[in-house]
Amino acid sequence: MLYLTEPGRLGELFPDEPKYRTDQLTEWLYTHPVLSAGSMTNLPLSMREKIGSEHWPFSLDIEQSADSGRTKKWLFRCTDGSPIEAVLMGYATRTTLCISSQVGCAMGCSFCATGQFGFDRHLDAGEIVAQVAYANAFLAETPLPRSPERVTNVVFMGMGEPLANYGNTIESIRRMTETMGMSARSITVSTVGFVPGMRRLIEEPWPVNLAVSLHSTIPSERSKLVPINDRYPIADVIDAAKDYYETKGRRVSLEWTLIAGENDSDEEAIGLARVARQIHAHVNVIPLNPTPLSNDVPPSHDHIRRFIGTLKREGANVTLRDTRGKDIDAACGQLRLRSEA
Ligand code: SF4
Repeated sequence: MLYLTEPGRLGELFPDEPKYRTDQLTEWLYTHPVLSAGSMTNLPLSMREKIGSEHWPFSLDIEQSADSGRTKKWLFRCTDGSPIEAVLMGYATRTTLCISSQVGCAMGCSFCATGQFGFDRHLDAGEIVAQVAYANAFLAETPLPRSPERVTNVVFMGMGEPLANYGNTIESIRRMTETMGMSARSITVSTVGFVPGMRRLIEEPWPVNLAVSLHSTIPSERSKLVPINDRYPIADVIDAAKDYYETKGRRVSLEWTLIAGENDSDEEAIGLARVARQIHAHVNVIPLNPTPLSNDVPPSHDHIRRFIGTLKREGANVTLRDTRGKDIDAACGQLRLRSEA
């Protein structure tokens, strides 16, 4: 499995080949990825044949398309049958890939399909970075309409809590930046408030973006939506986010999945704006993409407007995020849910 081997050790898999061959292979895997080894045109046939089924650490199980072809959702199957979800979204100036860091998730957020499955295993760094490579290989053959033909932004917002799989997340970021050549500033690590990981991330050399899923500022409410709040209380999460901003100079974003009757009150909007002002954060409000495993629904359009209006009046910088791919189960864990139903 080529991506499961660190780039610097690929030569060990091909002991009879000169070093420049593994340099060429590294380029095909990371810099100019291709969907099949047959397209690695400057490698000898014997090497391409050996790569064959060892090329990707997963196979494509389901591909769905939405938003006039500008959103693609993939469900991959690892060799052990584990599912991985990734969503590719094309915009005028960026092509963003949402990737998974774990199979399932132990955090158990009440509104999230992945959380309802529980935790299976961590993804290896190679299984994480291969999602980005696959997207670039796909785009080289089939660009999304009116969007950059390469992944310009990566967000760790698919299945899993990336900071609970710290070593593999960091190694995947190392490969994205050092081997693929991506800017760390175009990578966003999203956490539900895993404080030890947030603190370790402050010490890393890369200025990646940090997104913190807050969902409520009222501790008892937050614990209902995000049970890890019992272990890492919101005050500690906000402290760590503030330290991240002050040390890295990168503005943190606060993610807020808006759920009717749960976290859409004026009191919540005022509390969220207060936190955003305190740590100079940007707020992203995402109306809930409902899952069949829960009765939660998003608020009405009028109510969403009112919530956003209150945030703005209270001095928060806020963006209402579109919910791409609503018709293809694009919220994390939903494609897996469909495939296993
Ligand atoms: S929202 Fe994120 S952290 Fe929470 S259960 Fe789902 S995948 Fe895990």
